[in-house]
Amino acid sequence: MRRSIVAGNWKMHKDHTEGAGLAREILAGLEGTEPASEVVLIPPFTTLPAVTDVTRGSIVKTGGQDLYYEDEGAFTGEISARMLKSLGCTYVLVGHSERRHILGERGDLLAKKLRAALKAGLVPIFCVGEVLEQREAGDAAAVVAAQIQEVLAGLSRDEIATTVVAYEPVWAIGTGRTATPQDAAEMHSGIRTVLEDLFTPELAESTVILYGGSVKPGNAAELMAEEEIDGVLVGGASLTASTFLGIIFPSP
Ligand code: PEP
Repeated sequence: MRRSIVAGNWKMHKDHTEGAGLAREILAGLEGTEPASEVVLIPPFTTLPAVTDVTRGSIVKTGGQDLYYEDEGAFTGEISARMLKSLGCTYVLVGHSERRHILGERGDLLAKKLRAALKAGLVPIFCVGEVLEQREAGDAAAVVAAQIQEVLAGLSRDEIATTVVAYEPVWAIGTGRTATPQDAAEMHSGIRTVLEDLFTPELAESTVILYGGSVKPGNAAELMAEEEIDGVLVGGASLTASTFLGIIFPSP
């Protein structure tokens, strides 16, 4: 039985005061409930301390949006896995499509980041996904398979057992377009086949795979009803407590 995760990626939204307020509203909405999914907040770096102060001791976990692979040193503007860990973070995104497409991050760098996250005891949420032209050309499965292979191949059993994968078709992120639950489930199952070839059927079967791309309260239930979809990575709809809570507790 794989665990379910609902993670909110706040991107470059919410300063530390706004972020603490949003975290408090989300906690208030969770009070007295037992969500079926683990809830994770992924604010910008400068907002993280305020959010971890609010969530400490609660069921809500936190994560970083990115990391650099060195522990410390002359890397202006970068943040290490150890720094995230010492703040109390559990998770860190690696290879979000905006890091790949706006900041130009490539597989070799992402592999180093992923290993640094694991070494520091963080759970990497490794993001993969095709752009629209690749989907229209029928190349989506091959593109995603290559993204998985170039970064995850060579991980140990323990490392792959810790890693979470997020399938986020780039054409669905922030666009209002969502993959159909069936298309997403088909890709998740393809990812599991790639993991099976790289590792073992058991490890592939136990890997948590999230879907991301314009998830909202109105489509969360049907996405999460798919056996292959273990949870969701949410951008825009995680910026308001009511919509994020509507995804944590989706109604059909
Ligand atoms: C994301 O940032 O990972 C994302 C899926 O964004 P949105 O939900 O806004 O499409």
